Amino acid sequence: MSDIHSATLSGTAHPVDVRAMLNAICEHFVEHSDVLREEGRAVLMSRDWTINLTSVDDRLEIVIATASDASLPVTCTMFAEHLFYFAGDEPLSLEWSEPAPKGRPPGFHEATVVSARNVTSRMRRVVLSVENVTSFIGGNMHVRLLIPPKGRAPVWPIVQQNGRIGWPEGEDELLMRVYTIRSVDAGTNQVSVDVFQHSAEGIATPGSDFARDAQPGDRLAIMGPGGGGLPDAQTILFAGDESALPAIARMVEEAAPGTLMKAIIEVEDRSEEQDLEERLVGLEWLHRSSYSSDDRTSLVDRVKAEVQTTSADTFVWFAGEKSDCREIKRFLADLKRDRKNQYVAWYWERNRSA
Ligand SMILES: Cc1cc2nc3c(=O)[nH]c(=O)nc-3n(C[C@H](O)[C@H](O)[C@H](O)COP(=O)(O)OP(=O)(O)OC[C@H]3O[C@@H](n4cnc5c(N)ncnc54)[C@H](O)[C@@H]3O)c2cc1C
Repeated sequence: MSDIHSATLSGTAHPVDVRAMLNAICEHFVEHSDVLREEGRAVLMSRDWTINLTSVDDRLEIVIATASDASLPVTCTMFAEHLFYFAGDEPLSLEWSEPAPKGRPPGFHEATVVSARNVTSRMRRVVLSVENVTSFIGGNMHVRLLIPPKGRAPVWPIVQQNGRIGWPEGEDELLMRVYTIRSVDAGTNQVSVDVFQHSAEGIATPGSDFARDAQPGDRLAIMGPGGGGLPDAQTILFAGDESALPAIARMVEEAAPGTLMKAIIEVEDRSEEQDLEERLVGLEWLHRSSYSSDDRTSLVDRVKAEVQTTSADTFVWFAGEKSDCREIKRFLADLKRDRKNQYVAWYWERNRSA
């Protein structure tokens, strides 16, 4: 365990299958931290925390260490949420040596809609004002938008003793969708989010609808940021569809001068292309409208071909539909590329019947 991590908290989780839980944790966190795995135990190490995990009989002993007291509850809630996510529908109990302090979840910000407008006909930009944008500058880019039911005063989440977030239920249930902070304005304490208006006919699209209907003064909340940001690399290949476009556009804008960047982006047609900074050494737009109706592999095929031509130290950043991401992940694994030199994350899942 690292010396710089001086604040600690221990806990015990009782999952249905400890070994499966430990596997799921290691498999997931290898994308976000260094993972040392031995029989029956694992150590996860990031810049901000170290998490020691030991399976003892039917339980998982957890020790979280962070550099400061302030980041301990943040890490505790983050890890608790992951454990319950991995448990899925299976029962899981979790206790900590110190109950989590009650209050709003870490990274919770109340926000108000300032404006909403179309960037292109399918991409809607919603500008939100928050009390303080400091935590959105640099670093992690992704947030959860928490949208209260229309016409009801918002009821916000609260942290429970086990570190999990207690969400309002029933009529107060919040709509939650993950988006990328496209830009931050420190002068006005405003952030913007670009929301793709996907056309899933006959299927509800509540996240898209929020952006379509947003009115100045509407109240919502933002949780985050988290989930990664600009890769620390000299050469980067960005690729993805409209759900990834806000992240790609922001990273291109924020990359250090001299970073060599290429992008391959799939959009519906030419009218959905956006002015990305001219700092890219290559920018390729793929138009879905030009494919045949059963063609779902153009983006993946093009990215695979491009990766074959890139150097091993090129960071490959890919986000988009779930099955596309799985395909790209498999492909990169077969090439035996360094997993630290890649980010492959699915941002949405195609409806099976679509
Ligand atoms: C880390 C992260 C960052 C993201 N950043 C952004 C962002 O900045 N902007 C953005 O627009 N999206 C972003 N997304 C994707 C967004 O969260 C999903 O598209 C979300 O599901 C949209 O919610 P919804 O309520 O509109 O549709 P859902 O209720 O999730 O889905 C309804 C139907 O629409 C289909 N659908 C959902 N999303 C898409 C899509 N993108 N394209 C086509 N069909 C779709 C589904 O298959 C389903 O049939 C991000 C996701 C992640 C995980």
